[in-house]
Amino acid sequence: MSWLDMLQHQTRQLGQRALDQQLRLGITGLSGAGKTAFITSLVHQLCSGDLPEHLPFFEVVQQGRYLGGRLSNEQPLSIPRFAYERNLASLLGNPASWPVSTIGWSQLDLQLRYKPRNRLRASISHHSELHLQIIDYPGEWLLDLPLLRQSYQQWCEFSWQLFRQPHRQALSAPFAKRLAALNLQDASVPQLQQLAAEYAELLTQFRQLAGTYLNQPGRLLVPGELAGAPMLQLLPLLPEQLAQASPLLNKLSEHYSSYCQFVVKPFYKQHFASIDRQVVLVDCLSALNAGHAAMAELQQALALIMQSFQYGPSSLLRRLFQPRISRVLFAATKADHVTPEQHKALTLLLQQLLQQPIKHSHYAAAHSEVMALAAIRASSSGTVRQDGQLQLCISGLQRSDSLLVTLFPGEVPASLPPAELYQQHHFAFPDFLPPAVALQQPLPHVRMDHALQYLLGDKLR
Ligand code: GDP
Repeated sequence: MSWLDMLQHQTRQLGQRALDQQLRLGITGLSGAGKTAFITSLVHQLCSGDLPEHLPFFEVVQQGRYLGGRLSNEQPLSIPRFAYERNLASLLGNPASWPVSTIGWSQLDLQLRYKPRNRLRASISHHSELHLQIIDYPGEWLLDLPLLRQSYQQWCEFSWQLFRQPHRQALSAPFAKRLAALNLQDASVPQLQQLAAEYAELLTQFRQLAGTYLNQPGRLLVPGELAGAPMLQLLPLLPEQLAQASPLLNKLSEHYSSYCQFVVKPFYKQHFASIDRQVVLVDCLSALNAGHAAMAELQQALALIMQSFQYGPSSLLRRLFQPRISRVLFAATKADHVTPEQHKALTLLLQQLLQQPIKHSHYAAAHSEVMALAAIRASSSGTVRQDGQLQLCISGLQRSDSLLVTLFPGEVPASLPPAELYQQHHFAFPDFLPPAVALQQPLPHVRMDHALQYLLGDKLR
């Protein structure tokens, strides 16, 4: 290579590096919201689904400038890796099955290559790269943020107010009885271990109950590397046990402070503060199926989650962690469980669920968007003739018995239904098995191209 070629090569490389960008995209949502399915689909669309007819609203693909995506082989070995290959194998298996859900923190790095649209950029380098880091974490961890503002006593009061709601009462009553009979002078390790185990069991039972979303603290359900740490020996005493100081109250307050200091704050500092864009997935349809109390609790949980995205100049988040999230996509998932003309109502419903917290925020730093989507479309839509009338319907393999059903799943309310409506009407949106997809085919979806455009479009120009 002559010195001139070398110089040109180096200039190109420098230009290339200057044009390359990095983006950290966080994906979260409460348990079962659809994070695993969403990430698996997103990665598959970027690596194998880049056909204009498959992603019509994803500009870079539509304009023929997308050169492809691949998994990075430079991902640090110390970071838990999102099990993309295993998840895809479940979806493409015969029979296809849904992948195992998210239980902790993981990351997947991708390299996306594209032709710059800008002439100047294109003259410097014939392609650019976006290094995309996808970060998956349980939405339950965001429910821990409010703990930083509460004292242990306030948290106990909040918890018992919730546990005494009708839909939680039956499960929590035996634990309340157990606490009421406690000797508060005994703060020994065996007593704390036993009580914490019983409280963790109660949280697990709550989680299995449809429509309970506010299960704090988040790490008691998913302890990960913290399993066995004394600060996880945490539980809310009954409000009436807080009036007088006692050894048990002191010990639990101490564990609560340690949990805030060594679990909640580090999560925000090390992980959350490095995220550039965030997706929050919400399964509104399952909450409607579970009834009024479930919808009310989902709204409450979302209000707490929203606090993580409201970091005006005087907010606690801004003071403590300097977050930099500039865009948040709130997505109502599993839109393939309803007929397409209901998607608008599903979006409006999610908007309403989020509206209260948005209204009350003095300053929302991040730009946000709300949409209804299905990461993996498991149904097909069409019409049937019923009593001489054309009726919209969807078909899919019912999860409970694997039978192919064709049905009209019902209307989605465009606003929060009043409590009385649930007494007259039972929502019963279906649940489907994943579709059979051939190996070379892209995964079918609803509006993943819109999501990609919102999240990455401006970075691929
Ligand atoms: P996670 O707990 O947030 O990781 O949730 P998952 O991604 O594991 O999803 C939980 C369940 O929701 C899956 O097992 C599927 O049954 C269902 N699901 C998730 N995404 C979709 C989707 O796009 N369409 C349909 N029909 N079902 C979905």
